[in-house]
Amino acid sequence: MKIVVLPGDGIGPEIMAVAVRVLEAASERFQLDLEIGHDIAGHASLQRHGATVTPALLEKVKAADGLMLGPMATYDFKDEAKGEINPSKFFRKELDLYANIRPARTFPGMAHRVGEFNLAVVRENTEGFYADRNIESGSSEMLITPDTVISLRRITRLCCERIARSAFDLARTRARHVSIVHKANVLKIGDGMFVDICRQVAREFPQVRVDDFIVDAMMAHVVRAPQRFDVIVTTNMFGDILSDLTAELSGSLGLGGSLNAGKDHAMGQAVHGSAPDIAGRNIANPYSLILSAGQLLGWHGQRKNLPAFALAARAIDETATAALQAREGTRDAGGELGTAEAGQSFVRRLLEGRCR
Ligand code: ATP
Repeated sequence: MKIVVLPGDGIGPEIMAVAVRVLEAASERFQLDLEIGHDIAGHASLQRHGATVTPALLEKVKAADGLMLGPMATYDFKDEAKGEINPSKFFRKELDLYANIRPARTFPGMAHRVGEFNLAVVRENTEGFYADRNIESGSSEMLITPDTVISLRRITRLCCERIARSAFDLARTRARHVSIVHKANVLKIGDGMFVDICRQVAREFPQVRVDDFIVDAMMAHVVRAPQRFDVIVTTNMFGDILSDLTAELSGSLGLGGSLNAGKDHAMGQAVHGSAPDIAGRNIANPYSLILSAGQLLGWHGQRKNLPAFALAARAIDETATAALQAREGTRDAGGELGTAEAGQSFVRRLLEGRCR
């Protein structure tokens, strides 16, 4: 398996260094023969190549089996004409990574205010209320007068169908329950179609229970009793917001791993951003990228039917549980360690097969 690694901005280089060591350790223990190629995106690429991402980089990523993308300073990238392209949007769009799978669960031994839970948010990734990916070129956000802005939201049958299928497929391997989250009481046509299509796809999965919730009420349900949920499927913007909440409820935003998956490509990425406020201080939690790396290995194993990859993915997950229980995480996750030290103890555990 060839993986391209792009460390990113802010805390990106610190936490990606840890994720790479975890991938190397998994490769060693499970004989995965991973080939890890390093490149740059974001501010480092803007300085060197005049653009945050380049066509050459895209070709390199297309030729690989997977991508690990560090958090990017997306807020700084405002003008595409100056090469300031949002790398996250770029890869999601160019590689058609339509399903953003964001698991969130509590870890034993860590304080959790809302009780134990284990769920996954499945967020549509290629359209919705994202002005930078809705139309062929340019932005779907328009300045009509100096005081008036119109932002367009795109919802298509194809994208609704494929995200619904991803959610039900995932639910089949979990607790067999899908909750559709929407705002069909206000966005009657767009979200109305999203709910209808999800319910149509649900008929192909009679073993999976299905219900639906309006997004505002869902926020309250998730805070009150997240254990009620298994797989939550929703449109792009709602999924973005909801998954930050579920990551934080699991103990820390720094524990939110995510996989962006399409038919032929996948990208591991943290749920959180580049966190410039804590960059360079060796305090960032590397678990979101570690868990994303595990998801990427699991995706490859499933796609190519390679059991060693599934075993490696499971070992990364189990090692995370054990290490956090032993308080070998960063401060935000109830531990005492720095980023690099948390990474070292994780790698030691993974190599020794110490999941308990
Ligand atoms: P960006 O502009 O790239 O989205 P941000 O700082 O606005 O960055 P996040 O990176 O999502 O947004 O961070 C939100 C808050 O959570 C910050 O206060 C940050 O310090 C904290 N945080 C985010 N990621 C981590 C992490 N991996 N470990 C510890 N704290 C984190």
